[in-house]
Amino acid sequence: MADLIDGKAFAEGLRQRVSEQAAAFAAEAGRKAGLAVVLVGEDPASQVYVRNKGKQTIAAGMASFEHRLPAETPEAELLALVGRLNADPAVDGILVQLPLPAHIDEQAVIAAISPDKDVDGFHVVNAGRLAVGQAGFVPCTPLGCLMLLKDRLGDLSGLEAVVIGRSNIVGKPMAQLLLAESCTVTIAHSRTRDLAQVVRRGDIVVAAVGRPEMVKGEWLKPGATVIDVGINRIAAQTEGKTRLVGDVDFAGASAVAGAITPVPGGVGPMTIAVLLRNTLIAAHRNIGLAPPSSL
Ligand code: NAP
Repeated sequence: MADLIDGKAFAEGLRQRVSEQAAAFAAEAGRKAGLAVVLVGEDPASQVYVRNKGKQTIAAGMASFEHRLPAETPEAELLALVGRLNADPAVDGILVQLPLPAHIDEQAVIAAISPDKDVDGFHVVNAGRLAVGQAGFVPCTPLGCLMLLKDRLGDLSGLEAVVIGRSNIVGKPMAQLLLAESCTVTIAHSRTRDLAQVVRRGDIVVAAVGRPEMVKGEWLKPGATVIDVGINRIAAQTEGKTRLVGDVDFAGASAVAGAITPVPGGVGPMTIAVLLRNTLIAAHRNIGLAPPSSL
């Protein structure tokens, strides 16, 4: 049976380190590190995320600035708000919750965020910094996956890594991070031929597909370390109930893998913890301090 990779416990430890360093930052800077979160519209999942981000930001000893705008907010108004947050010295990190309503151009909004406050790491400047190996901000979910992998495996150098999915927020940055760790990286996607054969190469498999339980145990190399990014809500056996599953068939994969993240309790809790970490790093950089090495 595969070992469980406990993302919940790791995220708790990271949040604890962030809290300690946030207190030290506040003492040195004379103010708290600040995260601004902008939510446009009433998407229920986004409302839950934003509420959790606000709560955890405050619990970590940082300032949370929430901006809730109606769904019909014109793009120009959102861009003007981003401009004000860019100029506000109390705001170290800016996160605009995605998805945005259809009349707003997401790329234009991401481009308007100052790269130095782009704690989500979605700005092209930060994507470029990651690609060329400069310090910037890395998207929270793949960075959280990398932390779990390094905690489990130590040095990743020379390992075969298969990333399934090539989105800008998970798959592509995940592949860049693994490449920077000197893995031999394969990126699979919906046009990949014989996915099972490709996955079998992986000492590390990261699944970020959005398809419930798609990756089967028999696809895996025995002993592989499996990181399941997927969060899919499916019908449960009890009528009217739903449950969360990942992109990996957990029962089948557990019989073959060396270690695996559960869903829930694996990658999910890492995302906000890394967001807090990125915000505190931004706060240090924004006032010319070196970010703490413990983060
Ligand atoms: P996405 O933008 O929809 O990208 C999905 C990727 O999977 C695409 O690159 C797509 O390929 C590929 N794909 C789709 N069907 C495939 C198939 N049959 N075989 C191989 N590849 C296939 O999704 P995402 O935003 O990256 O998210 C992926 C999953 O992670 C979702 O379940 C999401 O809910 C979850 N997620 C979790 C967190 C967290 O905090 N834990 C954060 C973000 C996302 P093409 O490019 O060819 O279309």
